[in-house]
Amino acid sequence: MLLQENVSLAALTTFRIGGPARFFVEASSAADVQEAIAFAQSKSLPLFVLGGGSNLLVADSGWPGLVLKVAIPGIERRSGDDGGKVVFDVGAGESWDRFVSQAVMARCAGVECLSGIPGSVGGTPVQNVGAYGQEVSETIASVEVFDRKAGQVRELCREACGFSYRSSIFNTSERGRFIILRVTYALQSGGEPHLEYADLKRHFEGRETRPNLAETREAVRHIRARKGMLIVAGDPDCQSAGSFFKNPVLTEQQHEDLDRRAAAKGFTVPSYPALEKNRKVSAAWLVEKSGFARGYGFGHVGISSKHALAIVNRGGATSAEVLALKDQIQHRVEEIWGVHLEPEPVIVGFCSGQ
Ligand SMILES: Cc1cc2nc3c(=O)[nH]c(=O)nc-3n(C[C@H](O)[C@H](O)[C@H](O)COP(=O)(O)OP(=O)(O)OC[C@H]3O[C@@H](n4cnc5c(N)ncnc54)[C@H](O)[C@@H]3O)c2cc1C
Repeated sequence: MLLQENVSLAALTTFRIGGPARFFVEASSAADVQEAIAFAQSKSLPLFVLGGGSNLLVADSGWPGLVLKVAIPGIERRSGDDGGKVVFDVGAGESWDRFVSQAVMARCAGVECLSGIPGSVGGTPVQNVGAYGQEVSETIASVEVFDRKAGQVRELCREACGFSYRSSIFNTSERGRFIILRVTYALQSGGEPHLEYADLKRHFEGRETRPNLAETREAVRHIRARKGMLIVAGDPDCQSAGSFFKNPVLTEQQHEDLDRRAAAKGFTVPSYPALEKNRKVSAAWLVEKSGFARGYGFGHVGISSKHALAIVNRGGATSAEVLALKDQIQHRVEEIWGVHLEPEPVIVGFCSGQ
């Protein structure tokens, strides 16, 4: 394991923002992970676990301790089928989209709508990655972790991960405790693609035959590219962390209040049913209807010209500038609509952050 010092984190994130890591290591095995943790403990250094850097806003001052990049490789298809399911054990350091591509090629359904999401496999359970009607919690069978509290490798079953919308124990109750080493997905062999999401249905409108998994993957990537949600080299709308805010989940009463405010302005708020009688509201709509249109500029930062929910680094942006725009948007949305928007990316290296 190579221990490096003062490594720029900007280059390791999709936002291309952030100062240096005081110490940096890349771990390609569970043993490397344990060695890195022992080093951090011996020097009383704070530890930050890095995957593909696609859901992070790193402070301009960087990270004062050790950054551990999990680079454990391997996509292994297990022979044992489980009720028509094919099981894949995937190293946390693998590219998520490479795994999706292999699963689709193997005609295994369950992750095709999650095509084109950047980042590592190990990052997917953390916020229960989801898009176009699928979430990883539907196909994750178990997660192998290094438990820093118990000092040992453990296997967590799906139920133990506490998945819900953009959330799991890894980013809430047990944040910082587990380092994800490997994820096991159970996919449906020969399964049909999941075509519930409106954008996808529209894409295939007028077609007489049902699209297959590969066509669905291509459609998702195409839709994502149009929205600036696919990393495309040279596209200025791609220097982001994807959606900057989660879609707020409102109680019936909160939703009624929002509807009243919208009706007074002649609008209908796009919303969808969520668990326990709640409703999920489009954060992109709230942002746009608060005066932050696509292409909105604010110095080196702005809003993607393709999607109102992505704050983008237009070149040379600092994390302080991103946070200033975030604050401005949160303040306006709350003032006009009475709704608090929660940021989706992990904010790293700030006093109030990780
Ligand atoms: C253009 C774009 C589009 C996106 N679209 C979507 C989308 O449609 N849906 C969606 O849900 N997300 C989306 N994202 C966000 C992001 O891609 C996902 O959340 C992704 O899973 C993050 O993985 P990562 O490896 O990059 O994690 P990182 O950004 O490196 O880390 C994110 C968090 O996970 C933790 N973490 C990472 N790896 C591990 C590990 N091995 N063990 C323990 N903790 C770990 C980190 O400590 C940090 O807290 C998008 C981002 C971009 C830039």
